[in-house]
Amino acid sequence: MAAAQQLGSMSLGESVERKDNDTEPTAKNNGARTKLCSACGKNSDALQKCRACKCVWYCDKDCQNRHWKEHKKECKPIKMALAKRGGKLDLGTEEDVGPLGKVPPREECPICMRVLPIYKPLQSYYTCCGKTLCGGCDFQHQMKSGEWPTCAFCRTTLPKSDEEKLARLSKRVERKDPQGLMRVAMNYGYGELGLPVDQAKCIDLLRQSAGLGFPSAQYQLGNFHRLGKMGLQQNEEEALRYFKEASEGGHLLSLHNLGCMEEDENGDHVAAMRHWQLSASGGSITSTGILITCFEDGLLQHSDLAESLQAMYRSRNEMRSEDRDMFVEYLKMTGEYKEQYDF
Ligand SMILES: [Zn+2]
Ligand SMILES: [Zn+2]
Ligand SMILES: [Zn+2]
Ligand SMILES: [Zn+2]
Repeated sequence: MAAAQQLGSMSLGESVERKDNDTEPTAKNNGARTKLCSACGKNSDALQKCRACKCVWYCDKDCQNRHWKEHKKECKPIKMALAKRGGKLDLGTEEDVGPLGKVPPREECPICMRVLPIYKPLQSYYTCCGKTLCGGCDFQHQMKSGEWPTCAFCRTTLPKSDEEKLARLSKRVERKDPQGLMRVAMNYGYGELGLPVDQAKCIDLLRQSAGLGFPSAQYQLGNFHRLGKMGLQQNEEEALRYFKEASEGGHLLSLHNLGCMEEDENGDHVAAMRHWQLSASGGSITSTGILITCFEDGLLQHSDLAESLQAMYRSRNEMRSEDRDMFVEYLKMTGEYKEQYDF
């Protein structure tokens, strides 16, 4: 498994992506096996299974065709793996990973009330009111706003200079706003907004933010410990501890990384797959990809893979909106969209 590599690239995640513009239980643990259409999310007794991967269900051909663009990435390799083993769903070598757990609740956009997109650049944090909105709601607002952009939540004019931005951020820090603390921490870490590079200050502010239970700061600290960065000694135990804390706050990248650490350091496939299943069911395509590899390797049962896949599409549908799609289209048009945002 290329888990180590995955971790390497994922670890860079938020630390390089920082930008200043900045489940439900599924069938198994719910008792009843309620099937949902992976395209439209509707529930009916007449759903048809995808014949190729035998993992997901659809109302009809229309729903299936509409979903194909998204589903083919997962469907094709599963279909191939099934063909290789003569159509057998399981080989008998699979591990028992137990019931699919539940991803802890994640922060929602206060305007559209949908769970915030996974990657920071698809969110907007406002230094005026300290709100974090989804990029979709922000984009819609900015398209309509006048000559000077305003906050989509409280309508305050956005800062016109780095000095002004830093002054507002400092106020957020005084109020112990976890997101503000993390932003200023990273600004110190990389010498942004006219601040001198100060790694100790960065870690101190990150720890304050993490101590307030902010998953992104916990994740960031986990990464710095894991890689021995930002003036910290490499420390696996601390890294694990922070990733665990962040995971309890529903942080998907941390869940994914925990899986990679279980696999690479402990060789514990079951624990690794449990973590990947959770982050997949929260909407991670990357974790889903690794689960498919586990299935190909005869480590994961087909039914567990199917359940994770259904939960993944369900979460992604819940996170999707027209405004968010438009924002992503816009970023793709301007070349600002990066592949890992699809995490
Ligand atoms: Zn449907
Ligand atoms: Zn399929
Ligand atoms: Zn929103
Ligand atoms: Zn505001």
